[in-house]
Amino acid sequence: MTTPSAPHPLLRYGWDGAFATAFAPYEAEGLRPGRVVRVDRGSCEVVTVTEAGPVAAVRVGTGPVTSPDPVPNPCTGDWVAVDLEQRVARAVLPRRTAFVRAVSSQRSDGQVLAANMDQVLIAVSLADELDLGRVERFLSLAWESGGQPVVVLTKADLVPDPTTLSYLVEDTERVAPGARVLPVSAATGQGMDALAALIGGEGGTTAALLGQSGAGKSTLANALTGADVQRVDATRDSDGKGRHTTTTRDLLPLPGGGVLIDTPGLRGVGLWEADGGLAQAFTDVEALARDCRFPDCAHVTEPGCAVLAAAEEGTLSLRRLENYHKLLRENERIAARSDARLNAELLRNWKQKKALGRHMMERKRGPREGG
Ligand code: GDP
Ligand code: ZN
Repeated sequence: MTTPSAPHPLLRYGWDGAFATAFAPYEAEGLRPGRVVRVDRGSCEVVTVTEAGPVAAVRVGTGPVTSPDPVPNPCTGDWVAVDLEQRVARAVLPRRTAFVRAVSSQRSDGQVLAANMDQVLIAVSLADELDLGRVERFLSLAWESGGQPVVVLTKADLVPDPTTLSYLVEDTERVAPGARVLPVSAATGQGMDALAALIGGEGGTTAALLGQSGAGKSTLANALTGADVQRVDATRDSDGKGRHTTTTRDLLPLPGGGVLIDTPGLRGVGLWEADGGLAQAFTDVEALARDCRFPDCAHVTEPGCAVLAAAEEGTLSLRRLENYHKLLRENERIAARSDARLNAELLRNWKQKKALGRHMMERKRGPREGG
């Protein structure tokens, strides 16, 4: 296929040595590596290496696949082992990171929305008043995925005063420990080179886009790819809002290196079970909590609570503490709800089995009269 010295054609799609190692056993079976760029019901589009060209997009079936991950269904960003003759994905390589929406507390019931993103870009619009609580929520999701969050403050051209802008950046930084905050404007190009360099650069990374509707994700994706990929349909722009037509790909290589994942599944996500992510989004609170008198302190009314003390002193903002509590409660509710769903399902299965058992018993006994 390719000579050892030639760069692998899938490099611009994020292929690297570790994925190559994971793929080696499938290579021996004559399968090809490919990355999922779009998922539809029962099939997906994969960029892979074919005889016809170094990189080609093929549609493959997603029948039963093998995967070490609890959720085997291929999703955007996955590396798969493709059987080109049968046009089917046979296996999903182990995921480095993943957005998993849990359906129940059983991880295997989850839904993977995107995989293998190194960075998570959280688009937050500067056109509206900064909603720090929402930033914290997205940060929890981003950390939970395993990717490195970057808060991208979009539409920076709407904040022309540099002092005001730097205050907004600082406010955001305070609620985003461990994450970078980058003001950008797709309209003027401000900060766009820095963002492109963050995704591209040495070797290139995979970045996924998160954020509320209207945050400027499509505009950002278009500016980064240098093409009108996430088309805003001007012909149907009768209400002045514009409409997004169907995108062709949810994963795109960028001209400056790196890959962008912008999939409808990630758009407008809420919170799902993200207790690990919550802890990472609130490392400051977690660090304070180590000095609480009681190890199981809930930081509400307990004596000797270091978190409440910090809130009283003003070193921890009350808003942040309240949002921490709120997200924790929300998370518990989601977990309880999914457990309830799981229990209902178990009960249903059990009833079906019982009915089937009764049926089998009767069959085995045979018609009583006949003996
Ligand atoms: P999405 O819903 O997150 O994909 O957001 P869009 O990309 O559709 O953008 C929402 C609105 O914000 C559109 O009207 C855009 O024209 C506008 N917008 C996006 N980026 C910028 C920017 O950099 N500056 C300004 N002033 N407006 C922007
Ligand atoms: Zn406490």
